Amino acid sequence: MTPNPGPTAEEQIAFLGKIERLLSEGQFVATYKFALLLAIADLAVKLGRDDGGELDLPIRAIAEEFIELYWRQAAPYGNSVADDSYNILKQNTGRQAAIISIVDNLRQTHGTLMRARQSTAWTTAVTDATRLVRDMPLWRLQRLRNEVLDFLYSESPVADHIRLKHGVAANLRRFHAIIVRLAQSEWMHFIQALPGNSQLLGPTSDLGQFLFGADRSALVRMATPLADVQKGQCLYCRRRVDRGEIDHFVPWSRYPRDLAHNLVLAHKECNRQKSDLLAAEVHLDRWMARNQAHGPAISEAARTAAIVVDIAGTVSVAGWAYAHGASLRAATWLQGDEVEPLSGRWQSLLMEYG
Ligand SMILES: [Zn+2]
Repeated sequence: MTPNPGPTAEEQIAFLGKIERLLSEGQFVATYKFALLLAIADLAVKLGRDDGGELDLPIRAIAEEFIELYWRQAAPYGNSVADDSYNILKQNTGRQAAIISIVDNLRQTHGTLMRARQSTAWTTAVTDATRLVRDMPLWRLQRLRNEVLDFLYSESPVADHIRLKHGVAANLRRFHAIIVRLAQSEWMHFIQALPGNSQLLGPTSDLGQFLFGADRSALVRMATPLADVQKGQCLYCRRRVDRGEIDHFVPWSRYPRDLAHNLVLAHKECNRQKSDLLAAEVHLDRWMARNQAHGPAISEAARTAAIVVDIAGTVSVAGWAYAHGASLRAATWLQGDEVEPLSGRWQSLLMEYG
């Protein structure tokens, strides 16, 4: 194989500039394009590599990400009103976006994303969402007012996948945090600006948490099973923890998805100190060992708590997060206010167990 170097510094900057143009110059009648960009960025993290290669993404995989992204957004917003359907935030300037009825049907019948995924209705819903993704945002995302900026993937017809162009997956992985923040904030502003939402929203400030935050009530259900597998100890300082918190090992700010094996029990104080930093390699070692020894028990508890189980995906997200941290020479959190650089040991740790 010929070596396929990743994007140069100039190419990286040009890429970010184009992402910004998509979000600022594109015309938006629904929130689909934000969801599509987020779905592609998340899949690049899960399935892509850091070299400059192309990456094929099945449209069905994008559709599944779509359903996940809209899952919490299709929940009734704010204080309950008798008629739930009235309570769902609008995602479109005209009639309510079609994805909402697909997701709402699943929600009404199955309650949780986890149960919906295991049901026979899931395949049909993904097929419907696939058609929607193909018919709408896929060919609109890269259209500006009077220009086509098809730098992410080619718009020519494809069977059942899109092919990310050379270097795109690498750039999406490198700039994942920036792209997610941009797309989420544009998405939120779009929803706030829709006249149909003003009555529902009122002067609230928790919209960002509602749209993109973690599902705290599901996480709480993991506290007891995680205390069992961690023998009542905080994953980080290994001291006894009585009323701890559920922490995302790879921080939520870097990868905003609940994956069961990414959850750890920790002291509130340890969680606060770690904040949005990656955990030091000594913690990574302990986290990998915990998942190695107790993976099935955690999966089982997660199914009851209705949290997504994907061990391979979780390890691959961790691999991406640490490689990204290493490339930025990021500080990792050790304890208290102590941080340290990565030594490189993370590579063998993730390989050993992964
Ligand atoms: Zn602790």
